[in-house]
Amino acid sequence: MILPILAFGDAVLRKKASNIDANYPQLNTLIENMWETMYEASGVGLAAPQIGKAINLFVIDTGAFDEKKQSNSIKKVFINPLIEEEWGDKWEFEEGCLSIPHIRENVSRHAHLKITYQDELFNTHTETFSGLEARVIQHEYDHCQGVLFTDHLSQLKKRLLKNKLINISKGGAVVDYKMRIPSGR
Ligand code: ZN
Repeated sequence: MILPILAFGDAVLRKKASNIDANYPQLNTLIENMWETMYEASGVGLAAPQIGKAINLFVIDTGAFDEKKQSNSIKKVFINPLIEEEWGDKWEFEEGCLSIPHIRENVSRHAHLKITYQDELFNTHTETFSGLEARVIQHEYDHCQGVLFTDHLSQLKKRLLKNKLINISKGGAVVDYKMRIPSGR
């Protein structure tokens, strides 16, 4: 089932997400729906807060980035992730976000990271990722902390984007996927 993606301005996108355990209700269905929703919107990652659940869960498929064969693409479910360490030179990459349509900006992040997480069977893994895979993980991980990529931009950039972000929060962005606009704010 395709779920509506929360637009910028929704309070859930600003919540710090909670860990879950294997008893979380309908987890498999939720994960299935998140994959479907992500692919429908042509995304490479989707975090649970983006579909209105403030839980520590995100899915990633970097296959779409792999046309240049520069990366080892991954398709993974991350539950209760914890980034243990980030290192390496910071590099800029133009990021976008399904919750912030039509805005793309360079964001500077570390090249490598070590992360501990559980998969959908609640087996624990500790792995290192680099390059684009690390980038997508950092972006989705941020969502679980209530952080959006625009938070990483300079004060000047933020000021320049302010009206566009307000417009998105009011439903002004035209997208070809289901979005939910914050109400009552
Ligand atoms: Zn995002």
